[in-house]
Amino acid sequence: MLAPPLQRLVTELSKLPGIGNRTAQRLAFHVLRQTDADAYALAQAIQDVKEKISLCEICFNWAEGPRCAICLDERRERSTLCVVEEPQDVIPIERTHEFRGRYHVLGGALSPIDGVEPEDLRLAQLYRRLDGITEVVLATNPTTTGEATALHIAGALHERAPEIAVTRLASGLPVGGDLEYADEVTLGRAFSGRRAL
Ligand SMILES: [Zn+2]
Repeated sequence: MLAPPLQRLVTELSKLPGIGNRTAQRLAFHVLRQTDADAYALAQAIQDVKEKISLCEICFNWAEGPRCAICLDERRERSTLCVVEEPQDVIPIERTHEFRGRYHVLGGALSPIDGVEPEDLRLAQLYRRLDGITEVVLATNPTTTGEATALHIAGALHERAPEIAVTRLASGLPVGGDLEYADEVTLGRAFSGRRAL
């Protein structure tokens, strides 16, 4: 029905999360009506994120270049690490302005059912960063897998570096929810009320 180039755009757009075929068609028609400048800017922005954004070599947050803006920021405390599951979890925590330390992004959560074992997460890299650290905040999601991950890391840290305080965000976060969707007041309160694990 559609001309092949248009159909190709619809197909690509419908691979995006939350975009069904009808929405993909509507977006494709919109792109077709856009000015050349706007449409090419979209294409260029997509190409740029793929070419220029990679994972920070220290904390595995998204970065333009080898290190992310937080790891490069000299004003961030070096003594505190906040452990999160995914790079997008850094954003809501930053919005609370409760945390002045640095991050460590695991790249997922332990889930034996899905075949995610400790060696699939960036745990070895975390344990190599413990020099000079006085507190590790475990900010994995308040889900079954996030809790299991926090307990696993807490156990390993107590064994490797018993002098480091290991804390977990306070309750108040929606159970079973993702950090990404928590409002900043709730998340801020959970942060300031974090407890020892
Ligand atoms: Zn970083």
